[in-house]
Amino acid sequence: MNCCAIEPSIKQSSSRVNDSVSEDVSESVTQDCTNCGGQSRPVSRKTMLLMLKPESIEHAMTGAYSFCSARDCAVVYFEEHGSHQFTVDDLRVRVGLKAKRDPIPLCYCFGFNESHIRDEISRTGNSTIPETISRLIREGLCACEARNPSGMCCLGEVNKVAKRLRAISAELVSGG
Ligand SMILES: [Zn+2]
Repeated sequence: MNCCAIEPSIKQSSSRVNDSVSEDVSESVTQDCTNCGGQSRPVSRKTMLLMLKPESIEHAMTGAYSFCSARDCAVVYFEEHGSHQFTVDDLRVRVGLKAKRDPIPLCYCFGFNESHIRDEISRTGNSTIPETISRLIREGLCACEARNPSGMCCLGEVNKVAKRLRAISAELVSGG
């Protein structure tokens, strides 16, 4: 109902009214991945428990965790201010951001993989999938917190991948 409210959550406009605090303070709150040092985002326990294999659930009941989005890092969730980590092997679902071979999940709510966009672009030169997804999001039909291992809305990533695949396709056309 509220998962993809246009802006990617975490707006603390009213809580910290302090002249000396720069605007992107919310970015600096996130911790670097304890494995790769890359960027991360806090993830809710609910999201984690819905992704982890049952044998990992007991280990995820305490502590605050973040999601690592780095493609080459096997760690998916790591404990902030702690040492515990969960890797791609601890999850029941494939993490699209870390997958290098098909199927590469992009939109977990509606089941679109990278190959869906790739196929559409190779057929028609473009992809309507990002629009389809944003329409469904606007209608409040998504469930990212429960479906996406990052707990975040997929649309940014979907748009990024569509843009990259369109560029590759255009290059192939002009080069051939
Ligand atoms: Zn990492």
